[in-house]
Amino acid sequence: MSESRKATKVIVVGAGIAGFSCALELKGLKARCTILEKEATVGGRARSFTESGYVFDQGLHFFVGGFKSLIPILERSGIRMTVVGEGAVWLKGGERHTISRSIVDAARFGLVSPTDRITLGRLVQENLKRTRADFLELDNMTFAEYAEDKIPEAIYEDFYDPLIRTVAFMKPEEVSAGQYLYSEQLRFAYEDGFQAMYPERGGLGSVPYTLMLQARNFAIEPKVNCNVKQVIIEDEKVVGVNYEQDGKDFNVETDAAVITTPVDLLPNFVDMNKLPSDFTTSVRKFSYRPSIVAYFGLSSRVLDFNVGGFVPGKKIHIVAEAKRVSGVLAPIGESLLTVTSIDEELLKMENGEATEAILEELKELIPGLESKVTWKKSWKIWRSVLSQPPGIMKDRLTTNRTGVKGLYVAGAYANCGEYYASMEAASKSGIACAQEMIQDYS
Ligand SMILES: Cc1cc2nc3c(=O)[nH]c(=O)nc-3n(C[C@H](O)[C@H](O)[C@H](O)COP(=O)(O)OP(=O)(O)OC[C@H]3O[C@@H](n4cnc5c(N)ncnc54)[C@H](O)[C@@H]3O)c2cc1C
Repeated sequence: MSESRKATKVIVVGAGIAGFSCALELKGLKARCTILEKEATVGGRARSFTESGYVFDQGLHFFVGGFKSLIPILERSGIRMTVVGEGAVWLKGGERHTISRSIVDAARFGLVSPTDRITLGRLVQENLKRTRADFLELDNMTFAEYAEDKIPEAIYEDFYDPLIRTVAFMKPEEVSAGQYLYSEQLRFAYEDGFQAMYPERGGLGSVPYTLMLQARNFAIEPKVNCNVKQVIIEDEKVVGVNYEQDGKDFNVETDAAVITTPVDLLPNFVDMNKLPSDFTTSVRKFSYRPSIVAYFGLSSRVLDFNVGGFVPGKKIHIVAEAKRVSGVLAPIGESLLTVTSIDEELLKMENGEATEAILEELKELIPGLESKVTWKKSWKIWRSVLSQPPGIMKDRLTTNRTGVKGLYVAGAYANCGEYYASMEAASKSGIACAQEMIQDYS
């Protein structure tokens, strides 16, 4: 009888969506997989925490129907989702109206007259063809200005105006034409339109938490409070990982390591001189651009959040309207906006008033804030948010391999197709990484 194959030892660095997706997909490989997570809780950018009775999601918290990699993983793990919409959805006259990408859907769209439906379909199709340069140009005007000689009044009134208020959370005269139309292109870019879903319980953090339980069922060991310091490469292959846990240093042998932290943090634990130059050259293209982006006073009941702030490394009091899911905390790079307390006074205010109050607080926290932030939501801002990392849509790694045996990268910058930095991109990349490892080690 042949001797059974020795299990491949795999260490996944980071217990975010990419890390879990990769580890759970490694089932095709006889592997002993450990996930090392620096923080005390799993989830990475999809983490939640509770403060003053409010559950805060660090990232936004919706999944869309086009998430073909992530949703099956969630379903297999027993995570139930609440579907909150299909196509671009809003309510008018107590009725739900939806539209998705195709001209046929536009033709069925009941809110406007049959003639206007044809025009609407044409406008949607026209927008799908727009380039970055077009959006930049359109960023110089508001949507209302753009619409003036372009969009028939009935379509504007019955379609764009309510839609923009619903999905961009602003009035057409406040939102830049570039930003809105770009977000529309993105939404339509999803295969199945825009079907948004929530995890049912406990905020977004319940998703990675359930994945962790699932991982344990598969004998994958997720370990928290483990700060990986170095991936050791000898003779052009990975041989071990050093990490620190509770002040003690550990050194473990491994055959392979998957780094799921933002790719520009790679030099923190890997000697980049040991990696092939074509890989390091590609990686240099990706960098977090710590930008200050803020949007406040959002009052959408559809997406159920109302205050968002993207402020790297700053502390802020934040107001939460909904008990279950509320503020948006954006780790840009590794910097987190930290909630220090919930301001009960703010909770009593109207959105506009709360917005002003938060802006005042931010101005005190961040010198020169006004020159750094465009308060009007603009395409440029959106773009910079979406490009945390890897740069928007294209320009990303098309493999998880680094060129060093046993060293892989995963996350929203590597091998995840055309998705922007979403949980789906993370998941797709994690799965693709596992598949490459299976090829390399089977
Ligand atoms: C404000 C905001 C809103 C968002 N909204 C949405 C949304 O609505 N829908 C959507 O699909 N996506 C959204 N995203 C994107 C989504 O959250 C991320 O793309 C996804 O969670 C990234 O997963 P990941 O596993 O690639 O990376 P991460 O979640 O960043 O995981 C990396 C992990 O590595 C750990 N780590 C770092 N250094 C070390 C170390 N030295 N040792 C050990 N571990 C380490 C980190 O702590 C982290 O847990 C949003 C993101 C932000 C910031």
